[in-house]
Amino acid sequence: MASIDQQQISAGMRVGVEVRRSSIDGLGLFATEPIRGRTKLGDFVGERISERTARKRAKGARRIAIVELGNGTAIDASVGGNGFRYINHSCAPNSYMRIIRNNVEFYALRDIAPGEELTCNYGETHHEGTLGCRCGSAECRGMI
Ligand SMILES: [Zn+2]
Repeated sequence: MASIDQQQISAGMRVGVEVRRSSIDGLGLFATEPIRGRTKLGDFVGERISERTARKRAKGARRIAIVELGNGTAIDASVGGNGFRYINHSCAPNSYMRIIRNNVEFYALRDIAPGEELTCNYGETHHEGTLGCRCGSAECRGMI
């Protein structure tokens, strides 16, 4: 926990967040202030790599913080990434991700209260449906 650098977490963030233990998985990203629905939360920051490298890195990894942009490139937030590297999947998320002009942006899907964990729907992942989901929502699809 001591290794989490708040300045690094907040890089590219537009809202107050903190990283701490999550009941979903490992560490999670939490709001520290009220956030209105549709607010831009920030940009996904990390190392820019090729899709090929991304798939190599993702192979067999338990925790992956890579987003593919669909143009042959990807961003790996486990290298120099901000707080979004800790955003957990939920089948009933309060945030969503948009890929716009080679950037990955996060937005609030609805109003979010301080202390709430920020979650997004990972959609298709490198886990390819092999990882059990523990989001706890009524709509949980069971696997990521
Ligand atoms: Zn779930």
